[in-house]
Amino acid sequence: MAARLLLRACALNSQQLRRNVAVRPFHRAMGIPTDDEQATGLERRTLEALKQGKDPYSILKPKHYTGTKEDPHIVPSINNKRLVGCLCEEDNTAIVWFWLHDGDAQRCPSCGSHYKLVHHELPH
Ligand SMILES: [Zn+2]
Repeated sequence: MAARLLLRACALNSQQLRRNVAVRPFHRAMGIPTDDEQATGLERRTLEALKQGKDPYSILKPKHYTGTKEDPHIVPSINNKRLVGCLCEEDNTAIVWFWLHDGDAQRCPSCGSHYKLVHHELPH
């Protein structure tokens, strides 16, 4: 099941979710269960969360942040700190590592991009 979920996750985006909804009447008429109807366990929880606009397992492409003070890079964490690696410029081969702590947004010591830690609950 994990491999099937991974394959779906790689191909999944909001357009495909909408298309799945559009295909549902056809599947129902043919007696074929849809992905939503036959999913169980972790796969079902993930599909239900995606419909609510949530991404509890971080399977979708991350949102792009500008890294400014008004739009900092959001870093989810289950702890009160997290190690962050900043590729300051696109072609850099060296990564600047620093600890991001809970509280106000912090800046990368090299390029000055803003990062903010946000508490994240792991789904069970
Ligand atoms: Zn940086």
